Amino acid sequence: MNTFLSTEQTALQQEIKVFVDKEIHPVARELDSDEASKTPRFGPTDALARLAAAGHLGHTVGKDMGGTGRDFVDLILIVEQIAKGCAGLGLAMASHYQVLHLLDQYGSDSLKSRYLPHLVKGEMVGAQAFGEERAGSDYKAVETAIKSASGNKLIIQGKKSWVVNGTESALLAVLAKDAETNELVLAVVDSQADVPAIKRGANKAKMGLKAASCNDIEFVHAEIPAENVVLRGKAAEDAVDHLFSISKTIVAAAAVGLAEAALGVSADYAKGRFVGGTAQEGGANIAKFQGIQWKIADLSTESTAARLLTYRAAWSLAGAPEDFRKFAAMAKLFASRVARFHSSEAVQIFGMLGASPDSPVERIYRDSKLTEIFEGTSEIQKVILKDELGV
Ligand SMILES: Cc1cc2nc3c(=O)[nH]c(=O)nc-3n(C[C@H](O)[C@H](O)[C@H](O)COP(=O)(O)OP(=O)(O)OC[C@H]3O[C@@H](n4cnc5c(N)ncnc54)[C@H](O)[C@@H]3O)c2cc1C
Repeated sequence: MNTFLSTEQTALQQEIKVFVDKEIHPVARELDSDEASKTPRFGPTDALARLAAAGHLGHTVGKDMGGTGRDFVDLILIVEQIAKGCAGLGLAMASHYQVLHLLDQYGSDSLKSRYLPHLVKGEMVGAQAFGEERAGSDYKAVETAIKSASGNKLIIQGKKSWVVNGTESALLAVLAKDAETNELVLAVVDSQADVPAIKRGANKAKMGLKAASCNDIEFVHAEIPAENVVLRGKAAEDAVDHLFSISKTIVAAAAVGLAEAALGVSADYAKGRFVGGTAQEGGANIAKFQGIQWKIADLSTESTAARLLTYRAAWSLAGAPEDFRKFAAMAKLFASRVARFHSSEAVQIFGMLGASPDSPVERIYRDSKLTEIFEGTSEIQKVILKDELGV
């Protein structure tokens, strides 16, 4: 008996597995290309459209706004399965859902009704644009400036780096500093509204998670309505921290999906790879070796532990909000480490084939490493945890 997930949640996992097998697995290899968004091939924009068509860009938002009304635990179950097929899409979802959550939780009624119905359908893709070249881990040091202009407008000036969904993004959540008071300002920027002033760099080449586009975005004297400011000062700071807890739980789910994918392919490979001749010739498959068995046993144990920690974090958002920040940091720290370490062990199991892009583990390994960096590095999760633990 499954005493942890409800019957509905188990059915949801199955439903998403079917979706991933049909819609994601066949294109995952093609998506693993830096060139994908520049050519007619199936690229990040097509992948987001596919997620949108299946309703996966509109969970956690109420049906009144056109969302599915699913809770955060359901979203995490969905991301885990999708990331098992293609982890870059987990990254894309982390970015989109931060914008969704920002508006849903903190947005004015007018911003909600203007943007949420489009975001949940994927007609607008959301992107989180907080970081800058000189403000990564220390994101409060952002230099993008926001200042008043005539006609109830504001002007934004500055450059954001590594914005996931940057190519597709229609609505950007932007962290800036008030040019006069120096307080943090969290605003949404509708990239269609002031096109010439919002300059998108090309999709960046990166070692993994290539299914998500990633661009620098520059605001050159971009005008936005004053009402697009969602929060200021301490409220903005707290909201950014909370949004990171949301996104890092999503990233943890993606890391769990990666670890699970590594487990599946390496266990299958170990059973099929014979050394010392074929079975008929007296050879043995490498799964017979204790050294290989232990790798698989450790991977299975630690990915299960990462999954439980991630589900715990997701549950705490509504079930124990005072613990959410702590468990989100733990889940991100642990699940990304498990994915990175064990995907490396999976490459080891594949031997030379593990080094080839033709093997399934090579991409899993490259994707896994990056989960330790974005939405807060592993070191930053430890800084958060020492604060949460009062050390
Ligand atoms: C694939 C990918 C996607 C990304 N997507 C986005 C996005 O959508 N939006 C966005 O705004 N940004 C995004 N980023 C940027 C990301 O948020 C930053 O890379 C991350 O916050 C780290 O910042 P940094 O790269 O400037 O590293 P730095 O902050 O320069 O850190 C360098 C090293 O120093 C360590 N370090 C820094 N401060 C401390 C400290 N106080 N204690 C201990 N160690 C410390 C770090 O852990 C790291 O190991 C993305 C990055 C990647 C790789």
